[in-house]
Amino acid sequence: MEIKYITIFRGVDLSERRLPILIERGKEPGPIVWLCAATHGDEVSGIEVIQRIFNYLKRNSLKKGAIYALPLVNPMGFEMIRRENPYDDEDINRNFPGDANGNTTERITNAIFNSIVETKPDLVMDLHADSQKSIPYIIIDRPMGAKAGIKEAIEKSWELAEKFGITVMYDIDVEGYKKYNVDKSLTAALVNRNQIPAFSVELGGPKIIDERFVRIGVNGIKNILNHFQMIDVKEKKSGPSHSEIKIKTKERLELVENITSSESGIIEFLIKPGQFVKTGSALAKITNVLGKIEEIIFATKDCYIIALNDYAVSFPGDSLLGVAVAVKTQNEDNKTQSAPKG
Ligand SMILES: [Zn+2]
Repeated sequence: MEIKYITIFRGVDLSERRLPILIERGKEPGPIVWLCAATHGDEVSGIEVIQRIFNYLKRNSLKKGAIYALPLVNPMGFEMIRRENPYDDEDINRNFPGDANGNTTERITNAIFNSIVETKPDLVMDLHADSQKSIPYIIIDRPMGAKAGIKEAIEKSWELAEKFGITVMYDIDVEGYKKYNVDKSLTAALVNRNQIPAFSVELGGPKIIDERFVRIGVNGIKNILNHFQMIDVKEKKSGPSHSEIKIKTKERLELVENITSSESGIIEFLIKPGQFVKTGSALAKITNVLGKIEEIIFATKDCYIIALNDYAVSFPGDSLLGVAVAVKTQNEDNKTQSAPKG
């Protein structure tokens, strides 16, 4: 394994702040695959996934191409168990492709973006973590503008994502996507500006290394490398089988904005991640401290439950759960209002 560094800046103590890039090269030229993790400092499962992939490659050499990995995009956030970059409180994954003369986060994202793009990748996988009570899933970006090749890059991203073996869905519609700056995520910038296939993988369990999600991530990446014929997977899969973790539907899914509560209270969910619910189904109950029901949250459309909030408490306007719908229902009324966390 080769290690390179992206120098981000020199600190007040004169130490160089650097991001390591792990590189494993195959014997022959071939596909270039990138992995990124912990861009949100509290979304940690991807760090472990990358370590296991590189350990696997010590025992099973790469047949062709190269794998690059940024195992810890936000080391400062990771050390402080925080989503944002603590230097300027910016969300790194809402600041791509960045700016060499911009704020601290924009300088970091610009250096990362250029390091990735110059290798001309065939695929970039950005590892994130939704809540502990979530299914593992992949988010595919939306086209921003009509530039040639964007739609093809997004379709290619979807096709490759299907090889991973977990549920794949489009991000929220373009309006919400822009409203919450998701159009400035790493993967959005890659597909839209450079037409590089890319997707985000949500492997739940923020703040902790959850063995189940780690195995799903490792298996998925091996499936992708196998698809590119960069490795030969002979060993039996050690994680849950695909049928256990993938939503069974022939329709393409898309995220809609998270469902929120109107009242403060203690949350009791009445559904489970991965479950399909019909319009009008009760999703959650909000009770006050005396045990009186303040609110019952109902599904406003047929949807699949993707992620439930990890907290026991809700406040008015608080995000409670993330859901996805079949793409055909995208123009229906949507009464929810908060950004997905991914
Ligand atoms: Zn994230």
